[in-house]
Amino acid sequence: MRGKIGLEEHFAIEETIEDSNGFLAPEVWPELRARLLDIQDNRLRLMDAHGMEMMLLSLNAPTVQAIHDVKRAHEMAIRANDFLANEVAKRPDRFQGLAALPLQDADLASRELERCIHDLKFKGALVNGFSQANSEDNILYYDLPQYRDFWSVVQKLDVPFYLHPRNPTAAWSQIYGGHPWLMGPTWAFGQETAVHALRLMASGLFDQFPELKIVLGHMGEGLPYSMWRVDHRNGWVKTPPSYPAKRKLGEYFQENFYLTTSGNFRTQTLIDAILEIGADRIMFSTDWPFENVDHAADWFDAASISEADRIKIGRSNAAKLFKLDVAG
Ligand code: MN
Repeated sequence: MRGKIGLEEHFAIEETIEDSNGFLAPEVWPELRARLLDIQDNRLRLMDAHGMEMMLLSLNAPTVQAIHDVKRAHEMAIRANDFLANEVAKRPDRFQGLAALPLQDADLASRELERCIHDLKFKGALVNGFSQANSEDNILYYDLPQYRDFWSVVQKLDVPFYLHPRNPTAAWSQIYGGHPWLMGPTWAFGQETAVHALRLMASGLFDQFPELKIVLGHMGEGLPYSMWRVDHRNGWVKTPPSYPAKRKLGEYFQENFYLTTSGNFRTQTLIDAILEIGADRIMFSTDWPFENVDHAADWFDAASISEADRIKIGRSNAAKLFKLDVAG
């Protein structure tokens, strides 16, 4: 399929590149490093070769979220966002921007999101999981009460918020002890991000701000497969759930969430996601440069879904949700 749009497509700047070192075997670091720092060269060639019209670009992980010094986190977000705006301006027909946000401080994050949407013309935000403010162990999830004003700004701006994975801290990783292979995309990323998403659903956030649009990568981080059980465990017990949200969590999943195919190129999984959340809420992505554009595109172009769904998932859902200036 021509004209595909990708939403989870990363870059790095010199100040953040080392955050991506160590995720993969040392012998591929020179290749990964070059892929992350390139925007206008090899990346565009791959997009051309595999039918990708546009990438929405976002900073690598965890970067801003893992900078404990709040002032430095704020400065790094500004630097990365300004750099990205400059790159997007060179090829706005092929690249658009998603904002990095210093969510160590809800008010600073609100102001930076407003600047990115109004001044830099970004299309939304991509945040790398929880933020650490002032110390390693001060871990902030965005269901906390101090983020309600931030979410009111996100709803008012009417832009999607992409909740992207990061690894749990060492102190919160005991379950993975002795099994470092479970960290990152193998398992820990999905677990961490799915729990964060469930916290948002259960907090009552979407009762207060029903227009919020949250995007999850990796075909929903396992949630499509699990949401029914989240709401229906011990079905014979009539005691209401003990969380603040007013409705079943699956209802927020179906009304406030969107999923992408980033890094999860499996037709069986895609069909389950379509059955759970609908083809109008799923969008193509690759997770470049951690995954290959050809692996994503070759799989998606041949996946056993209807052509109508392929066009929605490959292109038109993203154009509509992110209000992209593209034909069709
Ligand atoms: Mn990613």
